[in-house]
Amino acid sequence: MKTLTNKTDRLSDCLTKVEGYPDRSAAVPGMAYFAGTGPLSATCGKCQFQNSSRSCEKYKEMKGEYGPKIFDGNRACKYFEDRRECGRRR
Ligand code: SF4
Repeated sequence: MKTLTNKTDRLSDCLTKVEGYPDRSAAVPGMAYFAGTGPLSATCGKCQFQNSSRSCEKYKEMKGEYGPKIFDGNRACKYFEDRRECGRRR
């Protein structure tokens, strides 16, 4: 029997990994939702919600404060909106 070392190990053992759905490995601090759940090849750097400080405005809208800075190359989340279509530049 596996010895559990902390609460996270115990929780992971109880959760079911569903193929094709994001899990905590796709969670990136500061992002509004799981990375890779947006359009194919879209990145945070192309999203209208990433501001000039590299923080996510959608994250702030939901959490009430800015999260950690996010990288331009992060795979986009489901809230992605193309900044070019919105006529917005950084
Ligand atoms: S894709 Fe857009 S909304 Fe999603 S985390 Fe990146 S900047 Fe924020």
